[in-house]
Parts: sequence; C-alpha cells; structure tokens
Amino acid sequence: MANEPVEKNMESFKERDYTDNVVDKYHTYDELVNNILQSGKDYDMKAIENAYLFANEAHAGQKRKSGEPYIVHPISVADILVSLGMDTDSVVSALLHDVVEDTPVTLEDIEKKFGSTVAQIINGLTKLSKIGFKTKEEHQAENIRRMLIATNKDIRVLIIKLADRLNNMRTLSAMYPQKQRDIARETMEIYAPLAHRMGIRQVKEELEDLSLRYLDPVGYKQICDRLSEQQSNREAFLESIKNELREKLIVDIPDVVMSGRVKSVNGIYHKMIMQGKSFEDIYDIYAVRVIVDTVAECYAALGVVHTTYTPLPNRYKDYITMPKSNGYMSLHTTVLRKSDDPNANAVPFEVQIRTKEMHLTAEYGVAAHWKYKTGPAAEGGKVVFENTVSWIRKMIENQMDSENTDVITVIKDDIMPDEIYVFTPKGDLKVLPTGATVIDFAYAIHSQVGHRMIGAKIDGKIVPINTELQTGNVVEIQTTKEIVNGPSRDWLKMASTSEAKNKIRSWFKNERRPENIAEGRTEFEREMKRAGMIIPEDKYEEFMTEQARKSHIDSIDDFYAAIGYGGILMSKIMPRLREDYSRMIVKPVESVKMRSFSEDERRARKKDLGVRVEGIDNCQIKMSRCCNPLPGDDIIGFITRGYGVSIHKRSCSNVPQDLEHCESPERWIKASWAEETDYREFKTTLKLTCIDRKGLLADVTTQLSLMHIGINSLNSRELKDGNAVITTTISVSSKEHLAQIIAKLNRIHGVLNIERTSGS
Ligand code: MN
Repeated sequence: MANEPVEKNMESFKERDYTDNVVDKYHTYDELVNNILQSGKDYDMKAIENAYLFANEAHAGQKRKSGEPYIVHPISVADILVSLGMDTDSVVSALLHDVVEDTPVTLEDIEKKFGSTVAQIINGLTKLSKIGFKTKEEHQAENIRRMLIATNKDIRVLIIKLADRLNNMRTLSAMYPQKQRDIARETMEIYAPLAHRMGIRQVKEELEDLSLRYLDPVGYKQICDRLSEQQSNREAFLESIKNELREKLIVDIPDVVMSGRVKSVNGIYHKMIMQGKSFEDIYDIYAVRVIVDTVAECYAALGVVHTTYTPLPNRYKDYITMPKSNGYMSLHTTVLRKSDDPNANAVPFEVQIRTKEMHLTAEYGVAAHWKYKTGPAAEGGKVVFENTVSWIRKMIENQMDSENTDVITVIKDDIMPDEIYVFTPKGDLKVLPTGATVIDFAYAIHSQVGHRMIGAKIDGKIVPINTELQTGNVVEIQTTKEIVNGPSRDWLKMASTSEAKNKIRSWFKNERRPENIAEGRTEFEREMKRAGMIIPEDKYEEFMTEQARKSHIDSIDDFYAAIGYGGILMSKIMPRLREDYSRMIVKPVESVKMRSFSEDERRARKKDLGVRVEGIDNCQIKMSRCCNPLPGDDIIGFITRGYGVSIHKRSCSNVPQDLEHCESPERWIKASWAEETDYREFKTTLKLTCIDRKGLLADVTTQLSLMHIGINSLNSRELKDGNAVITTTISVSSKEHLAQIIAKLNRIHGVLNIERTSGS
C-alpha cells in the first residue's frame, strides 16, 4: 500500500458543498463495507462485521433525534475513520463506541468479545454518568480529562472522539437551538483546536465551519452565498491556471501533480471579521497546489511560478524552512495573472508548493501514522505522532500540577485560540481577540456605548468592567442616556483591542483638553521628579519646546495634552528625556566634574573653602559638621573659641532663629560664598531609602566611583519593614553636581527615595 496514487488521496474528502443543506447522508453498513474495500487497505473484515452485528443488536430500537435508527451514527463514525486511513481496531471501536454508555452492555462484555485494546479505547470514550457532579462544567471537564488520560495510552481514543464529534456536528440540525449552540461552542473551543494540534486539517476545518454555522448563522450564510455564486467562475479559473502552470512545470518536473483548494468558511470569516478585509481582498480564498517529489523540486517549482506570474511583494512564506507548530510544511506565494481581457483587473491567487510527504502530513496529520506504514508519509506521520504524544503528556502533567485548574482551562491555555466569541443580549456575535475585556466589547458595539458605560453584566451577573471575556459569554453593557463621567484613563490599560484604545484616546483628545493638559503636566512632572530630573526655570521653555518638536507636536500645551489622553506614553519617551536632560541641562556640570586635579592642587583648593566672612580675612574657616553647607546654600558664620569661624547653613537647627535676641549675638557673623566656587569639593550626606536586595550596596558604590565621587563614609542598616537605609557622606562640587549625583543614584534598581540630611 506504500504507493497509493496521491491524486486519489487528495480527493478522499470531497469538496464540501456550500448550500445550506449540510445534513449527513444516511449511512448503511453496506456503504461502509464498500468504502473499506475501496480504500485498498488491509482490514480484518470478520472483526468489523462482528462489531457491527453486536452494536446493531445493542442499539436495536434506539433512534437518534433526527429519527434515524441509532446504528447510523456509529457506522458514520467508522466511515470517517476509514477515510482517514485508520486501522481495524479503530473501526471496530468506532462501531462500538456508544454501547457501554447508552445500552446495558458492560466494558467486561466488550473485553471478552473484542479484546483488551478495544475495551481500553471504549473506556476512554465512555462518558461518566452525571451522578456525583455538582455542575455541568465539572462533568464536562472530568470527561475530557478522562479522555486525555486514555489518549495518553492510545492516541486513537482522541481520533475516534473527533470523528464522533464530526458526525454529531454534521447532524446537529436535529437538536434544539440552545443545545446546538452549546455543542458548537465546545467544538470550536476544544475539539477543533485538538484536531488542529494533531494536524488533521480536513477534520479541523469541517468542525470549525459547522460550529460557525451555529454560532453565527448569518455571517456563515453570507460567505457560503458568495462562494457558491462564484463557484463556476472559480472552477474555470483554477482549471486554466492548473493547465497553464502544469505545462511549464512538467518540463523539469515530469511527476508534478496539480490540484486546487478553497479556503474554509471559518478561515474567510476570520479574515473578514478580525482583519476587516472585504471578500475581494482575501487573496488566498482560492489556491493552486503544486505537489512534487523533493524539497529541491519545491524551490524549482517556485522559480517557475514566479517567472510565469507576477509575485505580490511580502506574500511569500517558507514553511519548509520554518514549519508551523503542528508540523505543517509548504511554500506559499501569492501571484497575479493578467487577464486576457484588457479591461479586467488582474486576479491574485495563492500557490502552495509541497512534497507528497508534506501534503499527506498536512492533510492527515497524526492519522498518517496509521494510513501509511511505509514511504515518506509514514515518516511524516511518525513525527506528528510523536509530537502529539508528548504534547498530550505535557497537558496531563500541567493539569496535575495545578490542583485548582480544571483540564479545560489547561487545554484552552495551551491551544489558546486567537479569538473569542461573545454575544450581545440579543444574540449578536462579536469576535474579539483573546484577552479582550468588557471595555473592548462595549467599544466594539459603538464608541457611544463605551463612553456611556457605567457597568456590565456577564451571563446576568454584575462584573467589573475589566473582566476578561470568555467564548460564549453573553455581555450586557449598562449605559446612561447622557455621558456622565465618560471613560477613565485607567481604561486604556484595561482595554486590549486597539479599536477600544483609539476610541478612548480620541474621547480624551477631543472632549477634555484643559483636563488633559493639567493631567499630562502633572504626570510629566511626577515622572521627571521620580527620575531625579529637575528642569531649571531658565531652561524650561527650551527643553519643553524640544520635547514637543520631537513628538511632532506644535505647542507645549499640546504636548502635555497628548500625555494626558494617552497619545504619548511617558514610559516610551523616558529614554529620550534622559538623554536630552543630560545633554541640555546636566552636561555642563558633568564636564566640570570629570576634570581631574593633581593632589597638590586639590589640597591647595581645600584650604580656602571659598567662603567670605564679613570683616575677617585669612581666618581659619571650617564647615560645620551639623549641616555641611554647600555652595549656593544660604550661610552664616559662628566665631568659635580658638577654631576660627565655622560656617552653618542659615536653616541649620544650631543657628538661632532670632539672631538679635539670642545668647551671644556678637558671635554670629555674615558669610557668603566667594565668586569662584567651582571645582571645590564639599561634603554632604545622603540618605537612600531602598528595597533591600543583594548587591544593592555594591551598585551604589560602583555608581559613585564611576562618577569619581569621593566617598567619606558609607553604611547601611535594615528597617523593620524590610527596606534598607544607606547613609553616605560624599564630596561634591556644587548643588548642580549633587542634583546630578542624586539623579544617577535614583536610577539604581531598588532605590525608592534620596534625602540630603544634615548629620554626617
Ligand atoms: Mn457517539
């Protein structure tokens, strides 16, 4: 069976028709037998017939909701497994899959008659009775968990379950509407992603399309109508491309096989809804497939395609070098063919190029492991098989690790569909990206609904508006007639769609200009202060004008307003602000600080501390240790007994408030800083409050030594609240120099607050 003709395999699932009538046709056992014989695969017909007879008897008298005898269902499931190329045990298990659940037959009966392998598969497929479960969700979760554990032992359990679900979806029209939607939602959320993960494309796409048909009947029908309108044109178009291209390709690749494919309804739906594209703008609705023997031929064929037609830029994807996570490999490119009619537009279409092995793996995924025992597809199937086995194992382990998380959450987390489906109370569907909140939903309805929102309910329960939505939620937005408060700025952080964020920003932009300016200015100043950057008044205009200009904004007010409504994020412009700050404001001081002195020069300068004391020349002057005055500080001198004049800050607590009526007013003497105070060093003490962490002290000393700051003392202690205080006395040259040091220290991770203290 190694060399089945590829063309036959490709058509084994017929192209679906897009009329509304998706009800599966009545299946008989004879038809199943016929399909088994047609498959050309070796099956144990005796075992299959025994299973059929056993199941037929067990289900005798039972009817499906549609009125058909129940046995039609297991026969149909078995038939799907035959078309996937599954083995005898799978077909036997499919025929028997509902007997233990729905009839008096026990698992022991099955084991006695059909062996332990089949019994084990059936056990994994049999749902637990509802008794003992508090909720429907709990029951559902436990059944899926059981099925996965059984799948871990035998992967066929999950493949049969998918076939079972596919037949149920094909016959869903017989169910009540509420039940239809519940089943469709579960299929879209759990079973289609599982099929995708196992690489069984045909099953995945049909499950999704059938689910969509019940989740959004109107949207589904619109797309089906478009597809069937164009069907005959499309077939003619694809046929002519296939012929044209085959003629060119066959020169170098005589074995080339051509086929066509139509994108799934759900795939088109997502491009239209999620990406906002019109039907005409989706270029890969129709695709031509080129199937060759080797990887080298894939690239050779690509060359031929690109010389025959005009490739569209940025539409070439190499999934051979970079396979998708489920093992999918192919080259995709979108090209244009000029129409023969000079007035018509050129028609873009997609070409997919792959080897036979890649093709079979793409279509059958893990099932290729059973379908092909030898040959390249068997190899591909083996790889997908092993990936799937380890993925299932990982998921079961995850589920066991997290005690409070049920298995459905684990599956959902892992396969994480990109979109969620939620409903308005009237049943209108909204498709939102995963992670969307109530705010995103409100703005998806209308910006006025968002602006007027004062609360929300999910499935009838009041919830906070930052609640993350899940597929199937019915969301009701509570609004007021007039806009009362409008959106709050926090909403920008709670919204996840750019649509909602843009609508919130534009509200702030248009409706709240004065508030925006005030809000923006406050935020700007707060963030600057936090980063230790203080803009002196004389530099303010220049600095802010530069910032507005760099944000392409005309005025400083507009710049603040933009921060206010969230159009400019402080976190985004912070690096630029730091750079400009050190270039425009700190830089002159920094260059001074870097100037180095010889030891002699240093000593000479230290002698004269640059203070002038009124009426006294050449006296000994020292800086008081209680307040460590710095150049620029308001100072005063005190004539000591024998030690010259000590200089204090005017604000020092040792300096009397009222100098005229203090103890010895004659000893207090006016002092001022000499003109030339540059380059002199003064001691000052800083108190850093920090989050205690390893290496913090080292980071502080490293930063200080990088700046060539002399450290006179340094110690640290732990506070009761877990924070730490570092006290350091350093030598600085001026107030500006100190501001710059503080700014640098503030950037050290963990530093919360820096204070200049008077003690040393
Ligand atoms: Mn069933």
